[in-house]
Amino acid sequence: MGLDVNWAVRWLTLSAEAMAEHRVELIELDRPIGDSDHGENMDRGFKAVMDKLAESPPETAGAALKLTAMTLMSKVGGAAGPLYGTAFLRAATSFGDATDIDAAALAAALAAARDGIVARGKAESGDKTMVDAWTPAVDASAAAAGEGDVRKVLAAAAEAAEAGAVSTDPMLARKGRASYLGERSIGHRDPGAVSSALILRAAVGASE
Ligand code: ADP
Ligand code: MG
Repeated sequence: MGLDVNWAVRWLTLSAEAMAEHRVELIELDRPIGDSDHGENMDRGFKAVMDKLAESPPETAGAALKLTAMTLMSKVGGAAGPLYGTAFLRAATSFGDATDIDAAALAAALAAARDGIVARGKAESGDKTMVDAWTPAVDASAAAAGEGDVRKVLAAAAEAAEAGAVSTDPMLARKGRASYLGERSIGHRDPGAVSSALILRAAVGASE
């Protein structure tokens, strides 16, 4: 069985819970290499998503992700709002009206989300951004998709994103606020890569 709207709503709910739970951690990560607002931005954005989902319950997974995209774009300032907004919008378009999303469609939507982040932010792998969580996640999900199990695709993506977030520690930031610090950005973990890994981990929880 594939994924449906109930999975999507659970995913967004668990993402909102994760952003609330890790709010302070994300703020602390954004302190040395940013402006200490990432946890605040993400928590506020996903709380607004929960309000919208309650106001107008979506009928498909694609509709749930589209509503999320619109809400994050309008409620989350800074770099992360438009980047996550584009990611969720591209994933929504990739899902279309599907009511039973299989492993291949899921891997395709994750790739579309990553491509949206890259199109918007122009970061490459190794620039110390959320792309360093998303690209390994996309690669791992594509490799896992052949088995045809959506849960394995999600688990592979989350695990790779978590390792990807850790891999940003020694990187020198070349995009976003952290890039203003040059060499001093080395030795810190990118907050957007960490929030991306949390969101992809929430997608696993939603499928269990
Ligand atoms: P701001 O940097 O405007 O304060 P946030 O703190 O909410 O916004 O988000 C910072 C995160 O956004 C970074 O940790 C990084 O992962 C991500 N980011 C910033 N610029 C880019 C970019 N050009 N491409 C991809 N991700 C980016
Ligand atoms: Mg910030």
